[in-house]
Amino acid sequence: MRTYNFSAGPSMLPTDVLEEAQRDLLNFAGTGMSVTEISHRNKAFEEIVNEGEGLLRELLHVPDDYLVIFVQGGASQQFAAVPLNLMHKGRADYLVTGNFAKKAYEEGKIYGDACCVASSQDKTYSYIPDLATVPFREDTDYVHICANNTIFGTRYTQFPKTKAPLVADMSSDILSREIDVNQFGVIYAGAQKNLAPAGVTLVIAKRSLAHDPLPACPTMLKWNVQDENKSLYNTPPCFPIYIATLVLRRLKRLGGIKAVNEINEYKAGILYDFIDDSSFYRNDVVKKDRSIMNVPFVTPSAELDAKFVKEAAQAGLVSLKGHRLVGGMRASIYNAMPVEGVRALVDFMKKFERENQ
Ligand SMILES: *Cc1c(COP(=O)(O)O)cnc(C)c1O
Repeated sequence: MRTYNFSAGPSMLPTDVLEEAQRDLLNFAGTGMSVTEISHRNKAFEEIVNEGEGLLRELLHVPDDYLVIFVQGGASQQFAAVPLNLMHKGRADYLVTGNFAKKAYEEGKIYGDACCVASSQDKTYSYIPDLATVPFREDTDYVHICANNTIFGTRYTQFPKTKAPLVADMSSDILSREIDVNQFGVIYAGAQKNLAPAGVTLVIAKRSLAHDPLPACPTMLKWNVQDENKSLYNTPPCFPIYIATLVLRRLKRLGGIKAVNEINEYKAGILYDFIDDSSFYRNDVVKKDRSIMNVPFVTPSAELDAKFVKEAAQAGLVSLKGHRLVGGMRASIYNAMPVEGVRALVDFMKKFERENQ
């Protein structure tokens, strides 16, 4: 039996995608070989990469002057790739709204004058700073944000309008909501939350920004080199790219990002409405900044939190333990989490409340 898996990442993939992959595992696209065995230079695999790129362009309305590449090393590798591709003046501004945003900032400092221009650390990252008052500096190479803060359950509902190109880590909300790619210089995302198994990272970057990486930039981190080689500069993570393409096909069948966004708002609404009506459960994030992907919550005590996580798992609702930095619970409800999974969670929460008041 499949559980409802609320893990923050790697996370649930759509069951129909996994079934399709299972069916094709021994014989991919009529090659008589598994996609895990096939050469990445095989035409059938090249078609998968091209189709994946094409679907991303279509679903996210990526303009032609942006590159779309699949790379390795996770989102964390991009914390370094961003300065190594962009830091020509040696200055960049960072908004520190969570753990990953902070890691990106710390990595940026290795390569130049990275400055934290706004932070929400004073209140355990439970809000997004007021964008109108952020003291952006003049003459910087870029401004870095983390669009959705996976651990703390916040997200930007609007993005800052900056003079310098805006760079966004969208690992935990890529393809979950509509965005205007033109607002960004660079978008990157580890795939293991909303797109694919771990092992592949998506980068979308304006070509005019990506054409001139710093001399010290390792070849593998050069976005333009990856682009010129159509994500096949070296052996790519074939299986995750294949699954990503299946997930993207499914997104298109569902009606694209707009339709999926509506479902995601609906799912998150079920959970937040229940929590807000309850005097037993609490979510401490400023309401307007609440993530629709990651929903942290607590019961009245740490003991009950632990009991909740344990009993939920016995009921088939797994990986609800909050991140160690926050405690409590966290329900990650990415694209692949069905509405029924969220309903099952709320039903369990009601039952647990009755039994433990
Ligand atoms: C998961 C996550 C990361 C880290 O991704 P890796 O692929 O493990 O490096 C970075 N940023 C955000 C927002 C994340 O959710």
